Amino acid sequence: MKFIGAHVSAAGGVQNAPLNAQKIGANVFAFFTKNQRQWKARALTVKEIHSFIENLSRSGIQAEFVLPHDSYLINLGHPDGEKLKQSREAFFEEMMRCQELGLKMLNFHPGTHLGLISERECMGRIAESINLALDKTSNVTAVLELTAGQGTNVGYRFEHIAEIIDNVEDKSRVGVCIDTAHIFAAGYDIREKSAFLKTIEQFDDCIGFNFLRGMHLNDSKKDLGSRVDRHASLGEGFIGLEPFKILMKDPRFNQIPLILETPKEELWEDEIRLLRKLESDEF
Ligand SMILES: [Zn+2]
Ligand SMILES: [Zn+2]
Repeated sequence: MKFIGAHVSAAGGVQNAPLNAQKIGANVFAFFTKNQRQWKARALTVKEIHSFIENLSRSGIQAEFVLPHDSYLINLGHPDGEKLKQSREAFFEEMMRCQELGLKMLNFHPGTHLGLISERECMGRIAESINLALDKTSNVTAVLELTAGQGTNVGYRFEHIAEIIDNVEDKSRVGVCIDTAHIFAAGYDIREKSAFLKTIEQFDDCIGFNFLRGMHLNDSKKDLGSRVDRHASLGEGFIGLEPFKILMKDPRFNQIPLILETPKEELWEDEIRLLRKLESDEF
């Protein structure tokens, strides 16, 4: 059985995230361990940590598949030294929060060069940022998300991720998350079965399936190669349902979290039900 969930709210405290996941029939989830639009957060209290772990265990969701997402403010490839330092500190703190909660992964967008340094230089900084964070933490894997390539973001080519991973020292604690809307907007076609399989084969050749730690399942409001990041509900965008039919039946996607980040929260329960149907039905 596949692990399917959504990026749920942790309003009122991290302990609410597993409960919110359970309510929509999810057996996995993503969430922010702190306010994603602020640099600072107070430390998690022992009480919050205990109640998170208790609610997680009651929900039957396995900690190893939960995929927290870091703050949008963090840029691990920042061209400015001081700001890079601030991002590295914030990222380390987020890794620590995951560790405290007993979680095994932290999903993040690689970084952005802001037009001030080359993509390659930016990727070098990102790899170094990951090395620094892995050095000071244990058990948590840094999971790079493929991006749409909007603005000056790097990570929109499989080659970018491969190059970053290449420069990470501890390969056992670095991984990748494929966001279907992002890779589609970045120019990787996945609409038809043959295109989907070709893209996945390219991913395997360039990065390697062994690094795949999770997926974000989103349709896209923007067309192939637009490099604009706008998620749509499943079946309501330019991608359509075809790739989801295929991946729900492909055992290569069994042991990873499959997370909805679709815009209409009220549809998540139905979208999970739809994915379950695609998993079990004959097509
Ligand atoms: Zn993301
Ligand atoms: Zn995503």
